[in-house]
This record gives sequence, structure tokens and C-alpha cells, in this order.
Amino acid sequence: MMGKPKLKIAFYWAASCGGCEIAVLDINEKILDVVQLADIVFWPVAMDTKYKDVEALPDKHIDITFFNGSIRNSEQEHMAKLLRQKSKTLVAFGSCAHEGSVPGLANLSTKQEVFDKVFLDDKSNVNPQATTPKAESQVKEGALKIPEFYDTVKTLAQTVDVDYYLPGCPPPTKLIVAAIDAIASNSLPPKGSVLAPPKPVCDECPRKRDNKKIGKLYRVYEKEPEPEKCLLEQGILCMGIATRSGCGAQCLKVDMPCTGCGGKAPNVPEQGAAMITALASILGYDTEPGKETYTQKEIEEIISQIKDPTGTFYMYSLPASILKRKVIKK
Ligand code: SF4
Repeated sequence: MMGKPKLKIAFYWAASCGGCEIAVLDINEKILDVVQLADIVFWPVAMDTKYKDVEALPDKHIDITFFNGSIRNSEQEHMAKLLRQKSKTLVAFGSCAHEGSVPGLANLSTKQEVFDKVFLDDKSNVNPQATTPKAESQVKEGALKIPEFYDTVKTLAQTVDVDYYLPGCPPPTKLIVAAIDAIASNSLPPKGSVLAPPKPVCDECPRKRDNKKIGKLYRVYEKEPEPEKCLLEQGILCMGIATRSGCGAQCLKVDMPCTGCGGKAPNVPEQGAAMITALASILGYDTEPGKETYTQKEIEEIISQIKDPTGTFYMYSLPASILKRKVIKK
């Protein structure tokens, strides 16, 4: 009797740190189930397959592509479009593909500002001809082409149609395993679903909340937190309330606040705005119980305690947020 035909799976790595590739290996012996279930047809980090091999495949030949990384240059955009064309199902794998993540913070600068900083201003550079990357250069052997670097980092869904999202930086092993099980049993949820529990990190966090006001914010290194109390209520900025769970609140168990890698919590339109709203309801002078109103100066003093607001509230989600990027003045 013939067995079930194996699925054809692909992995791709765009603008990301590589942690998502390691996360695939972190599923340990579950990888044997993947091998039973599927043939890996394209995985540049592990196999020597060429882009032209993918281009030669019939459309929709690949059953599932796990695409990690945001879209920051023309090569990544080309591969996103190509793999979309060749795949029945496309999964945005990890925070960079999902909401833009840390590479997306480059949207606070223009391409020119990034190049100036990296290639011209950096004190460790020796660059007397002030050379910066160009998509095409003429050398004596002919035209030399490299991918074009874009002004704006985009999410995968801002580039092509995406079927599912596996959040996290990187996605937690148990979410990857659950996704593989759902694929194996043909029980994936409706298209567009985020493959993680529909609740915020606070719901998975073992720390106790009392709904207290806080008067002072601390950076992680400034305070040794009490072990059982909510970090936010101890003045340590924790994004758990605005972030989707699925991680098992692992950071909270080792006294580190949630920084938001799971992306926006279910039913909130935007992660950063949701966190700012939550913070507004709790941040105040705890030295004056019952105080309801604040002067402009007091508000400014309270807000000035938040160091790097964009990096705090939008560390993983700037390209996907309503802000998207800093305005480019032409
Ligand atoms: Fe836990 Fe952070 Fe939520 Fe507090 S805010 S309950 S520390 S996840």
C-alpha cells in the first residue's frame, strides 16, 4: 500500500539575525517527525540549492514555506514574491517577518542616514573615497550588481499575501511543534491566523498583580525585583499586557520584563499604542494616594522617565504599526 505523499517544505532567511534558523533545530527529536512528514526542498542555510532551482519549480509546488526575516532589500523582496508563487501556504516565521522586529527600527532613519553612519561616520572605518554600496557598479570585468537597499523595512505581509504567522523572537519551540502537528493532521486554523494562544503574556505570567499605581520607572539593572510581584507594578517596564503569549512567560520567570517579541496582543489594534494606554492608567505619583490630576510639568516629569520610548514600545513592531516609519522629508 502506498503511504501518504510527503509534504514539500521550504525555509528562507531574509532580514533577520539567524535565530529563527536555530529555533528550527531547537525542536530536537521532533525534527525526525518533520523528516517523516516532509522533504525539505529549499533551505539556504543548510542546503546548497540555488535560486534558479526554485525558479524552475512549478507554481504551488512547495506545500509550506516558513519565511523568516523582514524585507529590507530587493533580493529579499524577489524571494518573498518567488516563494509566494511557488508555495501553497506561506508562514511568516518569527517576529521580523511578522511585524518587522528589530531590523524594522531602521525605519527611524533613511537609507542615506544608515549608509552615512555605517560606511562614513563610524570611527573604525577607513574609507577615504567615501564609498557606499550601489546597486550597480562598473568594474573592469563589467557591471557588478548587488541587491538594492531600501529606505523602508517592510513586514512579509506588506510585501506578499501571507497565510499564517508564527510569532516570537524566535518562535518558541512549543509553538513550532504545535504548527508542525497542525500541518501533519491537516488541522491548521483559518487563513490569516496567528499560530499562538489568543491571550496576552500577562495571562501566562505567574507574577501577582494588585493594580497599584507606580511613581518611578526603573531600568532592569537599577532594581532587584521582588520575585512574585508583577514587574510593571514594581516600576520595571514590562510589555506583557500588550503582547501575545505562547512563550510561557519565560523571561518573567528569570526576572526579565517582557520586551514584546510576540507582537501585538489579540484584540488590540497596535502593540505600542496598547502599551502606552496601559501605562497611562498606572503611571502616577504613588506618594500621593488618590491623586487624580497632574500638571503639565508633572506629566512631563513622569514621561521623561521612559528612556527610548520608540525602542521600548515598538522594538518588534514599528513597520507593522500605524507609525510605520519616520517621515522622509524630500
Ligand atoms: Fe507579568 Fe509583566 Fe504582565 Fe506583570 S506586566 S503580570 S510582570 S507579564
